[in-house]
Amino acid sequence: MGEVHLETHRGVARRRGARARRRRDLGRAGVIDSVAPASRILEIRAHLAAHPEPSWREHGTAAYLADLLRAAGLDPQPFADFPGFTVDVGPGTPVVGLRGDLDALAHDTPAGTVLAHSCGHDANLAIVTETVLRLAALGDALPHGVRAIFQPAEEQGNGAASVAALGVADGLQTLFGVHLRPGSELPAPRFAPAISHGACCFVRGQIAGSDHHGARPHQGVNAIEVAAEFAGMVAALRLDPQVPASAKFTELRAGSGNLNVIPGSASFGIDLRAQDNAAMTRLREGVTQIGRALALRHGVEITLAEEDHVPAAIVGDAAEAALAAAIVRVAGATALAPRAVTSGSDDFHCYTLHRPTLQAAMLGVGADVTPGLHDPAMHYDLSRLDPAAEVLVAACIAPR
Ligand SMILES: [Zn+2]
Repeated sequence: MGEVHLETHRGVARRRGARARRRRDLGRAGVIDSVAPASRILEIRAHLAAHPEPSWREHGTAAYLADLLRAAGLDPQPFADFPGFTVDVGPGTPVVGLRGDLDALAHDTPAGTVLAHSCGHDANLAIVTETVLRLAALGDALPHGVRAIFQPAEEQGNGAASVAALGVADGLQTLFGVHLRPGSELPAPRFAPAISHGACCFVRGQIAGSDHHGARPHQGVNAIEVAAEFAGMVAALRLDPQVPASAKFTELRAGSGNLNVIPGSASFGIDLRAQDNAAMTRLREGVTQIGRALALRHGVEITLAEEDHVPAAIVGDAAEAALAAAIVRVAGATALAPRAVTSGSDDFHCYTLHRPTLQAAMLGVGADVTPGLHDPAMHYDLSRLDPAAEVLVAACIAPR
């Protein structure tokens, strides 16, 4: 009798990231304390852009930023088991939080593996760091405590969940994130008071059986045919057409090279996307049911492992309103765009998943990202970083 197993499997992603080649030049830059804030933010960003590090290995990035904040009289608290830290500024227990994402992406190019901040996390980090430095400079004028969380591994979708599990955001009422947006979603120089990300989930599957002779197909199960049935059934999963969603195979491996052998085993990968979390739940359940059905039908063992699951945006109305008010105060009403909607995902929403009462929203920064996020040649309008920090400062100091 066939059977199907479903388990979460974050370790796979972590090991995959660890394989990415690491740049050797991770030396710390000198502390930047004698320049105007508008050029300081660009110097921070330039250092980060020149020293990208892969997910779960952002030690140099975290050390560089912690040194900057320590030089401003702050006391960064590193995480014990992975790169990253929190830092508090202002009086009392922090009630407002800021999230920065430390990791870069690895790209396979003809010249080999290249690391790059092709998602613009160098900009996000420079904006959050500069915001903290400006809040620290306010001294007694800062009305309440603010905590910045510099987390690893956003790109693998499991950094935020690991940091949230430490409880470092549990005392916060509000959490702000920030991310650059391409012009197609948010034209520069406008800001969005929230980013409506979609959910995504990756599933790895194994079909386990024995190879058999090409002349005797009746003596076993052809794993390619099982996988093909699986792919067709996944693509045919039906959901409410009002909610954008997709499910598809993105990997299939089977066969030994001998065309006279019918492969009994195969491995495959599935990418699931949905614009809300209810639709994602239905997709995940659908994949599990298909696995059970095919295991029974063919009498093979099918193992399914969820590699990463990133929830869709859970936007807090009060947090979104606070960012909208800050955008208008800093840049005027014409700079305020509607909520940015994207099918991309961000693990920022894991903080709200961990604690549903948290008011969270991400500031979208229109920065003419060209040609697009996750393109190794990606570039953007650097002049948008300083106003973005001003918006976050205004949102952080607004009365609660
Ligand atoms: Zn990103």
